[in-house]
Amino acid sequence: MNNCIESIKKCPLCKKTAFKTLLTPGHWIGYEVFKELEGKIGLVRCKNCQLIFINSRPSDEKLSAFYSGNTYSCHEATCSVSMKKKENYILKQITKHLDPKTPRTLLDYGAGGGGFLLHVRDCGWEVKGFEPGKRGLKHCKEKGLDVTDKLDDLASESFSVVTLNHVFEHLANPIEILNGIRRFLAPEGVLYIEVPNVRSLRAQLAIPFLSRRFPVDERYRAYPIHLMYYSNKTLGQMLEKAGWKVKKSMTTGLGLEEFIVRDEPPVSQLSSVKKASSLKKWRFRHILRDIFLSLGIGENLSVLAVPEK
Ligand SMILES: [Zn+2]
Repeated sequence: MNNCIESIKKCPLCKKTAFKTLLTPGHWIGYEVFKELEGKIGLVRCKNCQLIFINSRPSDEKLSAFYSGNTYSCHEATCSVSMKKKENYILKQITKHLDPKTPRTLLDYGAGGGGFLLHVRDCGWEVKGFEPGKRGLKHCKEKGLDVTDKLDDLASESFSVVTLNHVFEHLANPIEILNGIRRFLAPEGVLYIEVPNVRSLRAQLAIPFLSRRFPVDERYRAYPIHLMYYSNKTLGQMLEKAGWKVKKSMTTGLGLEEFIVRDEPPVSQLSSVKKASSLKKWRFRHILRDIFLSLGIGENLSVLAVPEK
């Protein structure tokens, strides 16, 4: 049993040792794999920097057993409309921070089933992926994507963008990984990280009593494979600690975004009066969304960062 869990003595962010124990989430992902750890793993918040992380956590062996099993479904490439919208939005945000002359080359670190890479490739970028999971790797290769499970296969300074899309929260050693990623970035390149937002509106509204009974815990999603739960503050501090400078941080996703906001303004065979009113509504919905997201309470939290000089 002892090799199934790992206890952390120092906070992964500030290295202090005083933690407050939090209520263990009621809903677990991969319960069939992790159930023997019940009562042995838990959730804590560092009293100094407020980082929330799993401690004790499942050991690397236990996590690998989960990732290589049949129940983890994050590997498949998805092509839903809302997914495409999100990918477009991400790419737009990233591109704003790139010099127009910079080559469009992107490395997706933790490519999963390759959904994001496929989309970026379709947008005319040269793309590569790193994916250590066998199933994800297989899916990527079936889609004809250039993806490897060996970091040594990737050339130094060859990507203008490196993305970690819902990967960072799975990492036990984020600072080490951030240090390693630096070598792949071309000069003037940017790093994009997106994680679930522990301060999202849905998380804040979630009542522990209900969260413990429903199939999703809005406060601590995907427990216990999300090893850390980041806020805007702790994510920024983690990057700073590893020598990165945050250029922009934002929240994305309302949860119901695809029902509220359309990317393109309405253009149809509507009469000019109807078209004007429909345009007004379209703008109003965009303003509402932007206000919501600017409050820092969107579903996901993302940062664009560059290495400190
Ligand atoms: Zn800390």
